[in-house]
Amino acid sequence: MKALMQDWPLLVHTVLDHAETYHGDVEVVSRTVEGPIHRYTYADMAGRARQLADAAQKKLGIKEGDVVGTMAWNGYRHMETWYAVMGIGGVVHTLNPRLFTEQLTYIINHADDGWFFLDLTFVPILEAVQDQLDTVKGFVIMTDRAHMPETTLKNVVCYEELLSEGDAGFVWPKLDETIPCGMCYTSGTTGNPKGVVYSQRSNVLHAMATCAADALGVSSRETIMPVVPMFHANAWSMAFSVPMSGGKLVLPGAQMDGASIFELLTEEKVTLTAAVPTIWLMLLQYLEANPAKKLPDLSRVVIGGAACPESMMDAFEQNYDAQVIHAWGMTEMSPLGSLCTRKPGLSDEEWKVARVKQGRPAYTIEMKITDDDGNVLANDGKAFGHLMVRGPGVSSAYHKGEGGNILDDEGFFDTGDVSTLDENGYMQITDRSKDVIKSGGEWISSIDLENLAIGHPEVTEAAVIGVAHPKWDERPLLIIVAKEGCSPSQESILAFMEGKIAKWWMPEDVAFVEEIPHTATGKISKLRLREQFKGYELASAKAVG
Ligand code: AMP
Repeated sequence: MKALMQDWPLLVHTVLDHAETYHGDVEVVSRTVEGPIHRYTYADMAGRARQLADAAQKKLGIKEGDVVGTMAWNGYRHMETWYAVMGIGGVVHTLNPRLFTEQLTYIINHADDGWFFLDLTFVPILEAVQDQLDTVKGFVIMTDRAHMPETTLKNVVCYEELLSEGDAGFVWPKLDETIPCGMCYTSGTTGNPKGVVYSQRSNVLHAMATCAADALGVSSRETIMPVVPMFHANAWSMAFSVPMSGGKLVLPGAQMDGASIFELLTEEKVTLTAAVPTIWLMLLQYLEANPAKKLPDLSRVVIGGAACPESMMDAFEQNYDAQVIHAWGMTEMSPLGSLCTRKPGLSDEEWKVARVKQGRPAYTIEMKITDDDGNVLANDGKAFGHLMVRGPGVSSAYHKGEGGNILDDEGFFDTGDVSTLDENGYMQITDRSKDVIKSGGEWISSIDLENLAIGHPEVTEAAVIGVAHPKWDERPLLIIVAKEGCSPSQESILAFMEGKIAKWWMPEDVAFVEEIPHTATGKISKLRLREQFKGYELASAKAVG
């Protein structure tokens, strides 16, 4: 017997086709680089994406398999570019503007970017590196003729002029669902960044999985604002999942400070939003300084990319009546891997413990934790080991085979994170494997200590690194940024932590700094902190020595 269902390939353009047909009048709102708020509908977006696709083929010669670089904020033109390029079989390669110049040129050359689309903001960045780019054919500046800048970039095209030469009646070509359509390089804390390559199929499947009620729960009754950039791990799939579900889409552009985010959340009546903790820190600080301001429409805030401290969850839930969904994922996973929503049957006590974890996998993700020899560890919420994942949206290799084989014998990918898994399927990250503090042969979770310290009323940000110790190998050093106008003492911080963690997990020392360094994707840069505190001598180490 043969299955008799139709062969309907999972192609990204079908997402926008669906939005156009069934949610065509739903608004897409963008804060533009040029200044004003731009509004149109999914029907407009779909028509313009087809126009751009047609023009990109005819005028720029972009064809199936070609890599197109983008450096742009979350905005309607960036969305059109994604759908247009992917729709004709091209590969959109998003670049993070916060990368160092050497990483940027390495990545653009390694990916063989041909045409390059960029927002006005990034003209100077590309001007500075263009002579080092081997494969770039020219630059499409994503604006209209009136805003085209004076530039030294060679072979420049105006986006709106290009688009106007295309036909909105363009028909998407039939493609194989397994072809590549997106690329994003990992932040690469050691060695060169590595290229992750998504397929049409993986993007569609991942978006479907993340729409589920126990995942993001995206629906046509929601207004959704992805603050997480499209250049950071696919904006957590929201460029696909939101049009797929027909929700109103709000794109915040370049302004991510507390006041600007607050303005969009309230003016556009956003119900669901998503970003890394540093963005929410800025918003909460803004709200604290303006106590009359509330978030009446906001129902859910997705927080991931770095651990969300409990104090941040409490702030959203208790002061603004918005539920926090803690999420975990990575570029290599399309990117969402788990989301923390309440499992039926959990008591309030159990949920209080579970809600701060990184959550349960959505359909399409399988997880296990292993020891250093690859043995599977118990799902008891206590044992922690290497977090391994498998699924149709998980990388099987890096671009051009960099890094060699990245899967174990069962096809699981090593995330580089260390975690526990509990009886209810909740996963909790305890560390990156290279950040875990090895003290007396046991592991101490730097993330747990950071989350605890940040709950101190006079602390804005906290980071913990392992510092060499003659007896214990490594001991935790707590690094603190105090809240403005506050100067907490080491004693008060340690007293606050005491009794909430095992005695031997207590930081050995507290260092106060003006600022903690961050990576291009907003994570605490432990690498730079370790450099900064190289040779740091703990008082207790001196005593032993
Ligand atoms: P990226 O590929 O830039 O998205 O980085 C992925 C890495 O960020 C993961 O492997 C984790 O180490 C970290 N990460 C992401 N989400 C979380 C989270 N909710 N809690 C702790 N770490 C996280």
